[in-house]
Amino acid sequence: GSAARLQHVVMLATPGMGHLIPLAELAKRLASRHGVTTTLIAFASTASATQRAFLASLPPSVTSLHLPPVDLSHLPHGMAIETLMSEECARSVPALTEILTKLKETNRLVAFISDFFGVDSFDAASNAGVERRYLFIPTNLHLLTLLLHLPELDVSVPGEFRDLAEPLQLPGCAPIPGMDLLSPLQDKSNPSYRWMVHHASRFTEADAILVNSFDAVEPEVAAVLRQQKPGRPPVYNIGPLILTESKSTGGVNTAPPSLSRASCLDWLDRQPARSVIFVSFGSGGALPTEHMRELALGLELSGQRFLWVVRSPSDEGAVSDNYYDAESKKDPFVFLPEGFIERTKDVGFLVSSWAPQVDVLTHEATGGFLTHCGWNSTLESLVHGVPMVAWPLFAEQHQNAVMLSEGIGAAIRLPQPKSKEMIAGVVKELMAGEGKGAAVRTMVAKLQKDALEGLREGGAATAALAEVVEKWAAGES
Ligand code: UDP
Repeated sequence: GSAARLQHVVMLATPGMGHLIPLAELAKRLASRHGVTTTLIAFASTASATQRAFLASLPPSVTSLHLPPVDLSHLPHGMAIETLMSEECARSVPALTEILTKLKETNRLVAFISDFFGVDSFDAASNAGVERRYLFIPTNLHLLTLLLHLPELDVSVPGEFRDLAEPLQLPGCAPIPGMDLLSPLQDKSNPSYRWMVHHASRFTEADAILVNSFDAVEPEVAAVLRQQKPGRPPVYNIGPLILTESKSTGGVNTAPPSLSRASCLDWLDRQPARSVIFVSFGSGGALPTEHMRELALGLELSGQRFLWVVRSPSDEGAVSDNYYDAESKKDPFVFLPEGFIERTKDVGFLVSSWAPQVDVLTHEATGGFLTHCGWNSTLESLVHGVPMVAWPLFAEQHQNAVMLSEGIGAAIRLPQPKSKEMIAGVVKELMAGEGKGAAVRTMVAKLQKDALEGLREGGAATAALAEVVEKWAAGES
């Protein structure tokens, strides 16, 4: 091998912007800080226009390609997204083996990094003789801990987790009520549950686990995982990896209409500092019709200024039919309560389907974020010092909400049932309250400092990634 060739890594991203964005940021950081180039591989069958546009917008140091499509038509109708991703991954091993083998001929391929629904791809890396295999967790140490324990919990908890009498207490983690655990764990008869156990059981095959979190937001579990433990790969907290320059990278912002983008930022320009609560449920979250109504009336009742990314409601589960595409299929505004738009026009601004979230959170008029607690949204909020109201919907969002509210105290979680009075009260408390609200605002200011500290030269996240990369160089000798 010629030592002159640049080090190269291959990453496999499972579908969803929440997976692609942090992996792409990791790739960019590897290039800018360490001169490492990347091939980012995505699945074809489950790829959306938004994802394709995003991949096409990446800098030259990050090449992207799609695996050949896989026929999933034999699967029963209505399979969970986790099942589809897992099936697609398992069936893509031969194609991926071929791709890795070819890449290895022309590149100094130092590592293969798989997203956490893609661990079957480790087989392809082994087949192709790639030396190191890493697992990437796009969320946090709480989720990683749960999954590391899942194979044993699968045996020790015979019934459904939601029927557990006590919250699940895992080492270093906030106690999580069974019904708040990762959504594919909620129904053991669903194939997606088996798939999660399967993936989790392969986590220990990784040479190391890279996590998109930072110690300050979950300090106790960070301390637990910092200890080396036989049989558990070393864990590196390399976050927060968040979308940095939304304007120049385009990507996620190319698909949605640029018109609403400019206008919501213009509107923010005219609002007082820290006066607006931003309301958004990620790239795929949709509320049931009833909740959407209560939210509208609650925002109105709060008297608070708000910027709301409105999506059409969904009464068949929290993931809308546009999980893969950011656009609402129908006009979402028709689902709002009668007269709401007119009555709130002086204090509220509505955006259909998609807003340039990072720009909104960066804006000084934004003082709060009512969020579904998707991990990217959470990190973006913390990095920009915006306190949160937690309204989780699916995936690991409920357990994120628990760790953020009951755990570290960076959010106020909306209690059940979600009435307009309750929503108004919590929103007001977050923005201006002297009790919980004040404590949360103080904690978020601290976490913002810690997050930025970690990303600096010599900071914890930077050092963790440098330590990983150093091993690649050593392997070359
Ligand atoms: N996002 C955005 N505008 C929107 C909705 C989402 O820019 O209107 C971005 C957001 O900034 C974040 C990502 O999409 O980077 C959503 O990821 P997250 O993990 O929060 O939630 P998911 O979409 O995976 O549920």
